[in-house]
Amino acid sequence: MAIAHAITGATLAPRHATVATFRDALDAPIDQGLAIAFPAPASYTGETVVEFHGHGSPAAMRLLLARCAALGARIAEPGEFTRRAFMNGKLDLAQAESVADLIDAASATAARAAARSLTGAFSREVHAIVDAVTGLRMFTEATLDFPEEDVEFVRASDAARKLAHVRADVERLIARAATGARLGAGLAVVLVGRPNVGKSSLMNRLARDDVAIVTDVPGTTRDTVERSVEIGGIPLTVIDTAGLRDAGDTVEKLGIERTWAAVERADLALVLVDARESGDGITPDDRAIVARLPARLPRIVVHNKADLARRTPAAEPRGDVVHVWLSALDGAGVDLLEREVLAIAGVESAGEDAFIARARHLDALRRAATHLAAAAAHLDVDAPPLELYAEELREAQNALASITGEFTADDLLGAIFSRFCIGK
Ligand code: GDP
Repeated sequence: MAIAHAITGATLAPRHATVATFRDALDAPIDQGLAIAFPAPASYTGETVVEFHGHGSPAAMRLLLARCAALGARIAEPGEFTRRAFMNGKLDLAQAESVADLIDAASATAARAAARSLTGAFSREVHAIVDAVTGLRMFTEATLDFPEEDVEFVRASDAARKLAHVRADVERLIARAATGARLGAGLAVVLVGRPNVGKSSLMNRLARDDVAIVTDVPGTTRDTVERSVEIGGIPLTVIDTAGLRDAGDTVEKLGIERTWAAVERADLALVLVDARESGDGITPDDRAIVARLPARLPRIVVHNKADLARRTPAAEPRGDVVHVWLSALDGAGVDLLEREVLAIAGVESAGEDAFIARARHLDALRRAATHLAAAAAHLDVDAPPLELYAEELREAQNALASITGEFTADDLLGAIFSRFCIGK
């Protein structure tokens, strides 16, 4: 506040915009703008904050920052305001992360999902599950502390049924968080196929402009070319691959190595074949490529050049794999492909209630699910080992708590003592 007073010469009323001239040490004007004071604790960080709104010229901003620094302030570190907000309990960890996700949002859907996480939509779901686990632990820990209350106590509390509910809730949240993680990070889609089959053309179609060089000479796409596109609100990184074939020269060899590295990182492979080939269109050359894809990698077989093959654009499931006929040249059928990509991403339904999530959150939820499954297995025997059961519940709770970063042992005690009247 002293710094603000020195710069503006004004006494700022809390949360009121004051028009002021920002002055340097020699009282010369730097800029004219608005100054707003947010006294603690009613600010973003929970600490006293003063905002200066200037005209935005980098030179004027530098002068203003230099003046602030001379008066004792320092430049904030990346994410420092949000970190302080978290430390001061203004946001939980998942919300703090969604601030960064909102800033980085690559699509309108991702931005909306991040905004929903910021308001606590995801955290509330996690809290609801943490509360349920706390409830289960309450009974168990009480039984452990008072051995005369035997195992029947846990049985009578209907623990198995309640645990099954919690596990179902965690599974549902995992599915939604997986969608949320894709909304945030997007999908890496790799285009594989022989030279000249139309990979660059398809990538340009998806990107809706010219990124890769399209030529008739096999082996022109010598390097992987990455391009971010958006399909139905989901950011996709499409990786166009060097023609996967025996390399003629060193440059091409390097491109091919990079292609396989890209394939390893991918979430989905589009295997391009020529629609004019008979049968499933997959030639012996293609088969060699397909055989080298990681088994876990979902794939769609794209029969390109449907125009030359006189095939009507179509999408057709064959076994586990969907085959799509399209023309990258005239665009016919590309919408069918986009729909299949979204279906595989599991994000067709990413709508109103979507929230953003991160790999860290998914990981924590999966750890919680594993511990809850182990807890259920302990309960499912004649003489349940209650210590082990309790330990798994505790681990599950810790995993969940790491998402919001705020649950501590004290909270558990608080929950136990506020809801249990043990001393009477
Ligand atoms: P890549 O080597 O797999 O990247 O193949 P390109 O995208 O460079 O395409 C090779 C050639 O096939 C180019 O002349 C394209 O114009 C042509 N081509 C690509 N897709 C189609 C298509 O759907 N129909 C027709 N008629 N030609 C295509």
